[in-house]
Amino acid sequence: MQYHISTGLIVKHFEQNCNCPLCEMEKIVETNICRELLADGCMDDDVRKQVNEMGFCLKHFEQLYEMPSKLGLSLQMTTRMNTIFKVVRQPKSLKDAKKQSKQLLKELESCIVCDFTAKEMIKYYKTITQLYSNEQEFKAMLKNSNAFCLKHYAKLLEYAQYAGFSQKEYLSTLYEIQNKRLKKSVQLLNDFSNRHDYRNLGKPLGEATTALPRIKSDFFGKK
Ligand SMILES: [Zn+2]
Ligand SMILES: [Zn+2]
Repeated sequence: MQYHISTGLIVKHFEQNCNCPLCEMEKIVETNICRELLADGCMDDDVRKQVNEMGFCLKHFEQLYEMPSKLGLSLQMTTRMNTIFKVVRQPKSLKDAKKQSKQLLKELESCIVCDFTAKEMIKYYKTITQLYSNEQEFKAMLKNSNAFCLKHYAKLLEYAQYAGFSQKEYLSTLYEIQNKRLKKSVQLLNDFSNRHDYRNLGKPLGEATTALPRIKSDFFGKK
């Protein structure tokens, strides 16, 4: 499954100045993949084979379950069970039981939606890097953004080589905006803790009320 990368989608999410534009884009990519899996993906032998091998994580199973095609999910899960039955066998010995246990736990870690999403998102990391190098307007937008959740900051660092000659400047910009965001988060956490000191009883929490939701967003993005 291939999706066209629209620079318009990237610009739109940076313009909105949300907590992490990449989390917003990732949500769209995940939803498209889930829709596809329950539609044409059910009939596609290659996709069925991959579902068979990888299955779904809890988050994506729940997302698929919320979608209208329960039949599609039922077909995909029937396929997935072929792999599970290869692992769940009568254990021949304790050694065999331990082997099965290891295999089964490994099966529970894989997810085709997570896998496809991660692959699609690489195109966004690269395009953002290229937009930064080629478009002055986008560069200014990124510099004024709220930075990213830690996972997406890490991903942008990983693909920074696509900035070409602007690489060094791009890395500095990313670090500056991320550092600013994290310092602000720490300041809000300190304010929040200080407001709980008995000497400050009755004082309004103000912006410090956002400290914990904000740090959650720094660490886990928009799950
Ligand atoms: Zn994010
Ligand atoms: Zn998943």
